[in-house]
Amino acid sequence: MATFYDTHAHLDYPDYANDLPEIIERAQAAGIAKIISIGTDLDSSRRAIQLAEQFPNVFAGIGWHPSNVMDAPDDLRPALFELTKHPKVVAIGEIGLDYHHLPGSQNGCAGDDAHYKQRQADIFQQQIEVAIKAGLNCIIHQRDSFDDTLAQLKLFAGKVRGVFHCFGENTERMRRVLEIGSLVSFTGIVTFKNGQNVRDVVAATPLNQFVLETDCPYLAPVPYRGKRCEPAYVKEISEVVAQVKGCSLEDLSASTCKTAKEFFRKL
Ligand SMILES: [Zn+2]
Repeated sequence: MATFYDTHAHLDYPDYANDLPEIIERAQAAGIAKIISIGTDLDSSRRAIQLAEQFPNVFAGIGWHPSNVMDAPDDLRPALFELTKHPKVVAIGEIGLDYHHLPGSQNGCAGDDAHYKQRQADIFQQQIEVAIKAGLNCIIHQRDSFDDTLAQLKLFAGKVRGVFHCFGENTERMRRVLEIGSLVSFTGIVTFKNGQNVRDVVAATPLNQFVLETDCPYLAPVPYRGKRCEPAYVKEISEVVAQVKGCSLEDLSASTCKTAKEFFRKL
């Protein structure tokens, strides 16, 4: 059986509180050999590490999500760096910029937006510094902020790489990500009826420059669309990606696992 990795799963979310051992078992049965559980703040990162200690095939990404930055400590670096020492911490993430829900568009003013963006950039910057110091790469979240996110990461190209997760941008933007030595990763959106734009980007991305993920509990692929997603469903994602690439599942397994291992060195 062709094996795959789920490089982005939120296993610490309450969605899995009642049946996580079964979820992990189903992933293994489906050939999903390794799963990276993603942190979204310090508590969530610590939970990801606990899960990595509990399950041999689970690894941890640690980081502070841009949507929560107003709750972050002013200097996140010491606490985050301490966590990087754990042998199963394979990346800093998810980190980045998210301009989708700016305070000004809700009930704040334009000045709030500038302050919020500055705070996001500051916390993103701190985490890039920790990644470099720890010799880890980054899992990048961006929403409605592609240019700023890429520009900020680009300043450190050569020292650190990012995987732009849940990639939903166009082919030209995919090429700009690869140009700075970073990667893209694809979710269940590739299986959606209205996911042709993502399938076009998959088709244009070199086989050795992307990885696969679920972003579960979100974005369950067809035929589970709308239901709770889980790492086992990388299988359905891989089948569509192999079709789009015109390659065998074995070739896709070999390339995506090799790319992931090179990128997440401790995986
Ligand atoms: Zn995520």
